[in-house]
Amino acid sequence: MTPEVEIYDTTLRDGTQGHGISFSVADKLRIADRLDTFGVQYIEGGWPGSNPKDIEFFAEARHRTFKHARLAAFGSTRRKDIAAAADDQVQLLIAAETPVVTIFGKTSPLHVREVLQTTLDENLAMIGDTVRFLKAHGKFVVYDAEHCFDGFKEDTPYALATLHAAEQAGADIITLCDTNGGSLSGEIATITRVAREELRVRIGIHTHDDIGLGVANALAAIEAGATHVQGTINGYGERTGNCNLTSVIPILHFKLKMRGVPVESLPLLTELSQFVDETANLRANPRLPWVGAAAFSHKGGTHVNAVQKVLSSYEHIDPGSVGNTRHVLISDLAGRSNIVMKAKELGFDLGNDTAHLKTMLATIKDLEHKGYEFEAADGSLTLLIRRVLTGAPPRFTVDAYHVSMRSEGGSSVCEATVKVRVGDRRAHTVADGDGPVNALDAALRSALVTIYPHLQSVRLTDYKVRIIDSTTGTAATTRVLIQSTDGVTEWGTIGVHENIIEASLQALVDSLECALTHSAARA
Ligand SMILES: [Zn+2]
Repeated sequence: MTPEVEIYDTTLRDGTQGHGISFSVADKLRIADRLDTFGVQYIEGGWPGSNPKDIEFFAEARHRTFKHARLAAFGSTRRKDIAAAADDQVQLLIAAETPVVTIFGKTSPLHVREVLQTTLDENLAMIGDTVRFLKAHGKFVVYDAEHCFDGFKEDTPYALATLHAAEQAGADIITLCDTNGGSLSGEIATITRVAREELRVRIGIHTHDDIGLGVANALAAIEAGATHVQGTINGYGERTGNCNLTSVIPILHFKLKMRGVPVESLPLLTELSQFVDETANLRANPRLPWVGAAAFSHKGGTHVNAVQKVLSSYEHIDPGSVGNTRHVLISDLAGRSNIVMKAKELGFDLGNDTAHLKTMLATIKDLEHKGYEFEAADGSLTLLIRRVLTGAPPRFTVDAYHVSMRSEGGSSVCEATVKVRVGDRRAHTVADGDGPVNALDAALRSALVTIYPHLQSVRLTDYKVRIIDSTTGTAATTRVLIQSTDGVTEWGTIGVHENIIEASLQALVDSLECALTHSAARA
């Protein structure tokens, strides 16, 4: 499918400049995989010239194959007064070995003179040289015209000259950026139309949300002829954020009737949004349009039929079309089909009338009420569904455990003891760790490897803790999310408890149980 509007995701680069957002390399790889499955055309992975983490990301990403997306490395035009080949930052873009390279350059004379402190001609040369250099290395080049709209308002002929410099040097896409996010939609449309008439290459749009127009401005540009849109999932980004792709993507499809991502991806949008929030360890914003928990929530009325009729008139679209759900007292049916869909995704063949569905739904709802959140914990959800379906007991049980900590000459030592039962076999082990969870993990694992040697290959790749609101109003609850891998597959598990150690143990137990399930399935 050729998209009418290309989606360029910069969650992993511009998004990470957002307040409170930090991704590990493993997080970034997981998000890139999700974005690729979802069907965006470009994934901007980072700025190799700005930090070693991004260099590591590209080194890891090199070994992966993406089905839909092409990976882009981000950087700037060469520095003034040197050759592109002599600029380390430009060299790092080549070294990232991505098919796409995106560079930004200056459009505004004010910025050229005051910020770069160079001449207008040298800026044009910096743009042309860098694009040519990247093209000579076989890259698909996206040129981001920084402060483009401000530049046009300041000096239209010069702003156009910078775009021509990029086009003549062979840029494949020229993106007009509202870097400060202060432009109005009318201005964006007018300037995009001018660029559209002047240039032959594909025009892109990159906006920020500083005055609440990030999405509106991107759409104004698209309606004026831009066919490439840059933004982030959930609108992450500097200050008030970037253009929010979780709004742009469904608007393109449902409101403008334009092709962007594959149609079958649209019902996965809410899940993608939640996954990125979970990975960023951020509380999801319920008021986010389209994908927020409140986007389709209604206070239920008294008469079911009447409420159902009224509901449709209070929704601009069917929530299921973007994978969201209507939150009302009568949402039992929607919940049921969600479980069926999710169970199918996890490999269970359920129908809407499967006998255990009601128990399953009740169990999940009860756990969610207690603070469980299965969006990033497929592993725990799989175990839960299997337990309800088969009634099979867990493969092992932790009968008792003890964790202690002492401080010795400034460093802390943690020790954990566990008693584990597998059938009628019992193991009792003790282990040290640099933290209580680490010690507990080591003790649990050494108890189990004596019985299941292949657990040796399982390792934790991520551990996240969040304090969530108490549902009882008496004590804060801790939610622990763990990511694990056995080198073949990766899974997430969850534990929730008032005590962080207990919550961690639940997630650890689920993680190892999942590992045993996977190896049993492969055997
Ligand atoms: Zn930006």
